[in-house]
Amino acid sequence: VTFCHEVPKVELHAHLNGSLSRSTMLQLQRCLADLGMTDKSNAFLDEFQMSSGDSINLSEVFPLFVIAHELTSIPQTLAMATALTLQEFEDDGCCYIELRSTPKETLHMSYKQYIEAIIQTLKNNTASIIACLIISINRSSQQQEIEIITDLAIEYHKKYPDLVVGIELSGNPAVGKFQYFVPVLTKAREAGLKITLHCGEICNPQEVIEMLKFKPERIGHAVCIHPLYGGNDEIWQLLCKSQIPVEVCLTSNVSTKSTPDYSSHHFKELYNANIPISICTDDKGVFATSLSQEYRICAETFGIDPSKLARISLRSCDYIFSEDKRKTLSDKILNFINKNGL
Ligand code: IMP
Repeated sequence: VTFCHEVPKVELHAHLNGSLSRSTMLQLQRCLADLGMTDKSNAFLDEFQMSSGDSINLSEVFPLFVIAHELTSIPQTLAMATALTLQEFEDDGCCYIELRSTPKETLHMSYKQYIEAIIQTLKNNTASIIACLIISINRSSQQQEIEIITDLAIEYHKKYPDLVVGIELSGNPAVGKFQYFVPVLTKAREAGLKITLHCGEICNPQEVIEMLKFKPERIGHAVCIHPLYGGNDEIWQLLCKSQIPVEVCLTSNVSTKSTPDYSSHHFKELYNANIPISICTDDKGVFATSLSQEYRICAETFGIDPSKLARISLRSCDYIFSEDKRKTLSDKILNFINKNGL
């Protein structure tokens, strides 16, 4: 347990509003109350975080985020949520995070103010964790919103290339078609943004093929790709050949019944096939987890010893979107490995 906490870790798949801890949510509520704003989330706070061992269907997770969205609907609380979440990851032994979030227009802020609130917090970050932003596009969004968000992602990447490093596609995988997003993702890629896609969260081999052929820098989840888990040989071989790194989210997949239990998680197949992987939390608030807990679960379930676990973290540095930070981070983890005789 101590080892999983102490090994320097990188977090490559964390949705801001899914990462809010109960303590953060209570602080956001208090802030809203101090500003004289009533929020409707009060009665639902208990529904946000799942209890350990509980599971719900993936489609039932998406309405839960609305509870967090109520709390981060003004720039002050959004900035606070970002700062508190970064601090929690740092306290958990995380040295680098690519936080992701979907810009939203609310009664109190524009899409631009949404991004601005997060960026200013990252810029003023006094914690030692290195933090960047990936702009999320929700699969359920309409064309106009998708274009506004992509253009803002490009604008902010140009302005803050070290902070806005990528763009990603998420949201309910049962809604929307990947092909619809190819033009905006291509535009973002041409502007220098790196791309990660939620891929194979549900069984959709055709979409997995289209996504892998698009050659994103990373993919998230990759549940239904191996033939054992609803995929097939063709898409599994495609993934093996592509060597596209996979952001693995163990507890998220088990909690949403995408995977029946930890021991039948496709981590095993990915790891044994030498597919690049990174251990991630997805939504540490909703799934009541932490990055060190995900490392511990991975180690205990699949018999990954400390030396191998530290090397999973080390190799994750090669998949981070801020290329100029790879060496610093690798050196930090290598230093830990050498100091501990791993
Ligand atoms: P936000 O983008 O900061 O608001 O974080 C919450 C959002 O992330 C949700 O509304 C979804 O769009 C997305 N999200 C979180 N977890 C998942 C997941 O497991 N699959 C797909 N999308 C997700």
